[in-house]
Amino acid sequence: MSVTLDSYEPIVGRQVLDEIRFLAEHLKGRRVLHVNSTAVGGGVAEILNRMVPLLNELGLKSRWEVIKGGEAFFQVTKRFHNALHGRAAEFSRQDFRLFLETNAQNARTLSLEAEALFIHDPQPAALVLEKPRQGGRWVWRCHVDVSDPQADLWRFLRRYIDRYDAAIFSAPQFAKPLPIRQLLIAPSIDPLAKKNEDLSEETIREVLHRLGVPRDKPLVTQISRFDALKDPLGVIEAFRLAKRTVDCRLILAGGGASDDPEGSQVLAEVREKAGKDPDILVLELPPGSDLEINALQRASAVIVQKSIREGFGLTVSEALWKGRPVVASAVGGIPLQIAHKYSGLLSRSIDGAALCIKQLLNNPAYAKRLGENGREHVRHNFLLTRHLKEYLLVLIALEHPEDVIPL
Ligand code: UDP
Repeated sequence: MSVTLDSYEPIVGRQVLDEIRFLAEHLKGRRVLHVNSTAVGGGVAEILNRMVPLLNELGLKSRWEVIKGGEAFFQVTKRFHNALHGRAAEFSRQDFRLFLETNAQNARTLSLEAEALFIHDPQPAALVLEKPRQGGRWVWRCHVDVSDPQADLWRFLRRYIDRYDAAIFSAPQFAKPLPIRQLLIAPSIDPLAKKNEDLSEETIREVLHRLGVPRDKPLVTQISRFDALKDPLGVIEAFRLAKRTVDCRLILAGGGASDDPEGSQVLAEVREKAGKDPDILVLELPPGSDLEINALQRASAVIVQKSIREGFGLTVSEALWKGRPVVASAVGGIPLQIAHKYSGLLSRSIDGAALCIKQLLNNPAYAKRLGENGREHVRHNFLLTRHLKEYLLVLIALEHPEDVIPL
């Protein structure tokens, strides 16, 4: 059965849907374009998959375009990504030139006609140079943690960001001194996506069997792209410390994204560190492994997200929505999702993460309570319907630049 806005009523209630429809009445027929850099893998693609059809159902004309670029371009933008997350990096003129040339090529091939454009993350940010020719209101939707960006890169990107009508950040600490309007909107998960919908115990069992995951010990799981900023090596260390006192098995599951060229190297490092340890399973997931991720999350005793930097970390809300106890680093948007000792546990080190894992494995009743609180927190704050409503408010606000509309 196809998912429509009404399908969300049992989860969020009638009033939320009525508010969404009321706002959408003011926006009928508006062309809204989302542009990002990958159709699969990563949180942005995850969100747009359902956001775009729902906007259409509400009577807007919504489209999603993905920019194209060569390997060298994505190498550069991955370095941008890391440097925006604060990692030291140097950029040459050639890097910046390649970035601009690829954006210009995409500007020639993509259809950018719309009343409102949401340009996601730095990769397509220079498309805004088309704004004077194309018209429309342009929003830079930043999903990464830019609280401490590398200075040269930020200076370079500001030439483009400053041309937007507004910028949206995921967490308050990412806001920057900018001459444009700034809005704060947290990302969201779709409770009706294959990745998050309810599963029977039988399905979970089948999927784990197919993946070759035994369930004789409690599972401690991190699901993430193989990216150094997700710290999979640190997860292995924390797991080994925890395992000294509580028997358990680690699952590191993930795949790549087409705009992330570093995945295979990180995966090789993970495999090396895991060695022949029979209690560490490294699972490479192909794109579209939504059912597998859902089943793994549901089957886990503890979900870990030991990121070093994180824009938001959708995997945290995904786990909480399934009532799972989560141990996650107190970085980026993660503390929005986890109130320490209420809806999960926040850690700040490998030792801390190990301690939290042990605590949850040793105390299932406490773990269950954290998971239940987490689920309710996600229901009220991080589901797609809240996100949709805030995007509609942004669209209305953009049409009234002279008014201040509280969000
Ligand atoms: N994901 C996936 N396959 C993978 C790894 C991750 O589908 O192999 C999904 C994950 O379930 C989540 C999203 O990709 O929905 C990752 O979003 P998050 O914000 O956690 O991290 P990002 O990858 O955007 O940095």
